[in-house]
This record gives sequence, C-alpha cells and structure tokens, in this order.
Amino acid sequence: MSCSQEQTATRDPGGAEEISDSEFLDIELENLQPETPESCDGLSPALGNDCGTESETVEGPLIPKTDSAEEAGTPPELAGVSAGAGEGSTVLLRRKRVLAERSPLERFRLRYLCVTDVCGQAWCELQVVYGFELPHVPKREEESPEVKAGASIHLARELEVHDVVSVSAQSREDRWALKILNMLSMLPILQAGRRVRELPVFGMLEGVFLVGVIDELHYSHKGELVLSELKTRGPRSLPGRAQERSHHFQVRLYKLLFDSMVRGLLERDAFVQSLNLRPEQPLGSGVMEHAQKLGLHVHTFGGVLELALMNLSYSELPAIDVLKIEYCHQGSSDAIGTREVSFDEAGVRAELRNHLSYWIGQREPRGVDIEEAWKCRSCSFEEHCEWRRERAENATASNQTKRFK
Ligand code: SF4
Repeated sequence: MSCSQEQTATRDPGGAEEISDSEFLDIELENLQPETPESCDGLSPALGNDCGTESETVEGPLIPKTDSAEEAGTPPELAGVSAGAGEGSTVLLRRKRVLAERSPLERFRLRYLCVTDVCGQAWCELQVVYGFELPHVPKREEESPEVKAGASIHLARELEVHDVVSVSAQSREDRWALKILNMLSMLPILQAGRRVRELPVFGMLEGVFLVGVIDELHYSHKGELVLSELKTRGPRSLPGRAQERSHHFQVRLYKLLFDSMVRGLLERDAFVQSLNLRPEQPLGSGVMEHAQKLGLHVHTFGGVLELALMNLSYSELPAIDVLKIEYCHQGSSDAIGTREVSFDEAGVRAELRNHLSYWIGQREPRGVDIEEAWKCRSCSFEEHCEWRRERAENATASNQTKRFK
C-alpha cells in the first residue's frame, strides 16, 4: 500500500512530446504554497515539482493567485528580471548582481533539490531556473494530451503492484513522514525478492540534499537488483542524444541515492537540518493511523525517521546492479525499446558537482549551446529568455558587420 499522490504533469526537460517519469506526476504541495518568513519551508512554489510522494488531501487552487511576486514565490529581487524584450543587457547585469548577493538555493529558499530538477539542467539549465523565477508562465506541456496519457500509464503501472490510499497530512513533518513511510513499507517487499514501484529516495550528495522517486526496482532472473525507469513518448522512436543524456543522468543519480541509503549512509542530522524539520513534532491523526495500518507504532516525526534509518541499516538490501530505461508509446502503451545505462560513480559525481555549482552560487546559469538552439522552440520561456535574446542580437550584429565589410 502506498500513500496517494496528487497526480499532475509538470515541465519536461525533454520537450512536450515526452513525459519524463513518475516524478513529474507529483506536485508537492509545499512547492505550491506562498512562503512567509514564519512558514518558509525552503521550497519554491515555482515548479510543479517532482519529488512529492507524500500523500495529501489537497483542495483549492494549486497555484495561488496573487499580485505579489514575493507571495507567488518569485523572490522580490528577481521580480523584474526578464521584464521585457530589449532589456537583455540590463537584465543580465541585474542577474549578476543578484547572484553575487545570495546563492540560488538561498534566493529560492530551497532546502533540497529534486533529481528531475538537476537532470533538467542537463537539458537546459536556464529553463529550470526560469521555472523558479517565472512561476506564472504557463508550461506548454502541462496540459498536453500526451503528458496526460503518460501520467495514466505511470499510474496504471503503480496500481499493478500496490493500492494507493489518500492520507491527510497536517504539517511539513507529516508530509515527510509519509514519504518515509512509503519507502519503509517497500523495504520488506524488496527483501522478499518482489517488485516495488514509486520508491522514494533521498540523501545528501555533494553537499546538497536530493530527493527523487524510483519508478521500479525488481530482481532479474540472475538475482541482480534492476532499476527500471519508464519514459513515455509521443513519437514511436527512441529519444535523441540530448534527451538520452538527461535520462541517463537521472537513473544514475537514483542509484547513488538508493545505494547510499541501503549502505546506512543517510544521516539523521543531515535529514532534519537540511529540511528544517522538527523531530519532536507529533504525527497528525491521519499519518499515525496510516503508520499503524503498516504495523508501525510511531508518534512523532523523529520516531518515523529513526525507524527508517534503523531499517535501512539492518536491511541488507543490495546496491542496484543494473540501470534500465524503458521507452513506451504514449498513445498505445506499446514498448518502443529498452536501454541499459552504464554507471561510473566518479563521473556521475563530477557531473552532479558541475550542476550544483550553479545552485550554490559559484556561477551563473547557462542556456543551451548554439547547436542545440532547436530546444528553444518547445520551451515555455522562449519569449522571456535573455540567453536566447542575447544570442539572437549577437547573430544580427555579426551579420550586419559582415554586410558592411
Ligand atoms: Fe533554455 Fe532556450 Fe528555453 Fe532559453 S529559450 S530557457 S536557452 S531552452
């Protein structure tokens, strides 16, 4: 039994024709609520974010309507960024000034990153950043029938292996407790050699807390633990290299997170401090009841966390042996193909450090290379993008120079 999730599709670094994975199906309520100094939980409402696996009963509009950029999640110092065409250089100067003052993690009040955000950087880093800076720009892919079809395929697969129940959460600690309970409930199933789906993973990697959801783990006939990531696609073809790069990075990050969890490397203090959670917070009645149904007698968030850490330490679950991505057609659910993904820990960590260097304020965000400008055509932020505008201006200037020579 898994806690229910608010199902919706969010932006896809791979473009509108493809939904990336189960993570894209979940909106974390925290990310969609305006933050106030008192209630700031370290999350931006900018993205329909992808790491929410906790159960929620959610009512009302997901993205609150407000006139204030700050309330809406855009930090005040960025409220005017990308305000209009023709302001490219001013905008860039302002962005640089803002960057010098606070890191993006601080500016967006993020306590953790979702795996899919980091992987989105492999597609276009600036697109991810705009997702936070310009939360009200409609995402082209969100309402597309392809994305909805992909969401249904993911949900159908999840329902094959467990029921989904809705649990009411009353606090941030409740929501994180539900994530942990989801993970905890799957450990014995995995230990019994059976398949699990939608497994939450989390942990500190290269100094930043990351959260994700593994589509599926099962054992092969050789006894290897296999991670299988489902990608649904509009076209009946495998993705190009740019999308593939991002998909490969995603499953490699999942392996890093899962392996460190089952090796007992998830630390209580890192969890509590990174996410600013109160271990002594009593669980709400809905979460407590849910835990009891799972046979767990816990009363506080700290109790759930301790139980999880103990279970992970003594689980004797193996590290993931094989990484696979399964591509299937959105319209028909037909299989398109399966790709096995290699793993080199040093390489993955180096790539992760490169992506995180933006979030910790060591550099500015980057848009796509000129050879990949085709990505901009399907980007929701095409009209607002200073990177794209600057390149277009440079190209015009260079053409004019050539003409006058
Ligand atoms: Fe990236 Fe192009 Fe979108 Fe700009 S328009 S955010 S460079 S994909």
